[in-house]
This record gives sequence, structure tokens and C-alpha cells, in this order.
Amino acid sequence: MNSSTTPALDLTSLDGLVSAMRAGHRLALSRLISKVENRSSDLSEIIMRLYPFTGGAQLIGITGPPGAGKSTLVDRLAAAYRAQGKRVAIVAVDPSSPFTGGAILGDRIRMQAHYGDPNVFIRSLGTRGKHGGLSHSTKEVVMVLDAAGFDVILVETAGVGQTELEVLRLAQTVVVVLVPESGDSIQVMKAGLMEIADLFVVNKSDRPESDKLVRELHTMLSLVMPEEGGWHQPVLKTEAVRDQGVKELSESIDEHQAHLTRTGVRTQKTAEFLKSEVLDILTEKLNQSVLLAFQTTSGRELLSDLLARKVNPYQAASLLSGQP
Ligand code: GDP
Repeated sequence: MNSSTTPALDLTSLDGLVSAMRAGHRLALSRLISKVENRSSDLSEIIMRLYPFTGGAQLIGITGPPGAGKSTLVDRLAAAYRAQGKRVAIVAVDPSSPFTGGAILGDRIRMQAHYGDPNVFIRSLGTRGKHGGLSHSTKEVVMVLDAAGFDVILVETAGVGQTELEVLRLAQTVVVVLVPESGDSIQVMKAGLMEIADLFVVNKSDRPESDKLVRELHTMLSLVMPEEGGWHQPVLKTEAVRDQGVKELSESIDEHQAHLTRTGVRTQKTAEFLKSEVLDILTEKLNQSVLLAFQTTSGRELLSDLLARKVNPYQAASLLSGQP
């Protein structure tokens, strides 16, 4: 960018950061995301400034077992969206990883594919430090990206743990990626992915067993009758490495998005997202205040009363909350 034609960037103040981010500056965006990840003390002010600009992005969740080809598929999907002129953000969430900020190997490989494209932004989130609440941070990172004007936000998670399922709840459309290897469809049932999936993808369709898995999934789906006017979860085949079936996948995602709007489910989903965000904020606040309370003199006394069995935990909770 030519500095003689643009005003000097102010990345020191929150207002400066927000306006730079809104103008498309990646460094400002990265900094704001880091603040969210680190639960910065000005977090509520960040959200206050950004919230009016949110609500425009399509939130797509992608999950499946490690090695299913999610990263490859997400990369191809991003390219498909770029071909339509859409701005794309990719958030890779891995609760088992201590690495954040796009440092993991997969990200570097991915970044090469979109290197130099200012309309693709990639970030990975792991469990750094003891902050916990990864799904809460992810929700807020998604809000930042939404406010930054990305049309599509692809949230990729590996595995099917509790955090991953929570993260997927923020998505409007959930894509479950499976591969024609042993027992995947059973895993789907077990992990509760059946309920959360809007679309199934059988990737690595070059493998001989893929049709069998497609049939198994259809059989499983035929046992669950969708409600009248409800969404029929499609089963698609892709071969991500050769970019096969990716266009059809993006079209199917579009159909689901249109279905959400048509049926009013989009608003319901947004309401759920916002309710859980408010709950997360309150939980985080309560956690902090309880931790602080136990550090005060009366808090320490309360703790020794608890230890001495003079006070039970319910009484302690009432005392701390000031509520019966
Ligand atoms: P992730 O762990 O789910 O993100 O999986 P990756 O995207 O890292 O892919 C795992 C491996 O599968 C890589 O070596 C990919 O090149 C390979 N892979 C991805 N898609 C396909 C496919 O459609 N066919 C085949 N044969 N290999 C694939």
C-alpha cells in the first residue's frame, strides 16, 4: 500500500485498531484476535465496538477424524469461494494443541496455497496457557472475523471431543467429513455427530470402499425422519486432493444456507449463538470473581470452614453469591 495516499496507521489505540481492521489491515486483525485469545482486559470494549458490524458472515463448521482430509478440503473450499469473489477466513481449532496464532505446520502449508491473497485469512487456535474456554474464545474470534467483513468463515475442528462439539454449535452449517476406512460410520453415531451434521462428505472417494460408506450413511439417515419441511442431510463424495466434488459441496452448503434463511432457522441459530455467548461471559466472570473471593481474608476463612465441615459447599455458594 502506498503510504503517501493513506493516513498513518494507529495500531496503539483500540479505535485505531478497529478502524484499521475494518479497512482490511491484517496486522490490526491479528492483534485484535490475539487480544481475544489472551482474554485481554479491554475485551468487552473490543466486542462493544465490533458487535454492530457482525451478523453478515456465513459460519461453516467442518469436522471429522484426523487424517480424513479436512485441511485439504477446507483449502479447496476456500479456493472455490475465492473464485466466487468471496472473502474467506479459516479458523482451525485444536484443543489438544498448545500452538496458536497460525504457527502449526498444517497452517504453513495451507498458507502457501493462498499466499499473498489478502482475502484469505488463516488462524489456528489451541489451548494456550490455563485460560480454558476455547469454545468461548473461538466464538469471539469468529465475531471479530465477521466484523472484519469476511463473507465465509470456515471453522475446522479435529476430533469429536466436548470442546469440538461446543465449537461446532456456533456454525450455521456443519459438514462432517468421513473416509472409507474402518468403522467411521459407527463413530459418527457414537460421537453424536449424526445430530449435529447438516452435510456428510465421504472424502478420499478414490478409495474402493467409498461407495460402501455412502450406502451405510444413507441407511443410517433413512432411520431418522426429518420433520416436515426439514433439511435432508445429503451425503456427498469428494476427492479433495484432486479437487473433485468440491464445487458440489459448496453448492450444497449454499442450499443449506438458503434453507436456513427460508425456514427462519438462521435466526434461531443466531439466537442460540448469542445466548451461549452471554452464558460464556457470565461463566467467565463468575469464575474470576470466585477465584478472587477465595483470596480475600473472609474467603480464606470460608475455605477453612468448608474444610472443617462447619459450612457445606451449598452454603458457601450462597454466601459468595449473596443469594439463597
Ligand atoms: P485432516 O487431518 O483431516 O486435516 O487431513 P489432511 O487434509 O491433512 O489429509 C490427510 C492426508 O490425506 C494427506 O496426506 C492428504 O493429501 C490426503 N488426502 C486428502 N484428501 C484425499 C483424497 O481425496 N484422496 C486421497 N487418496 N488422499 C487424500
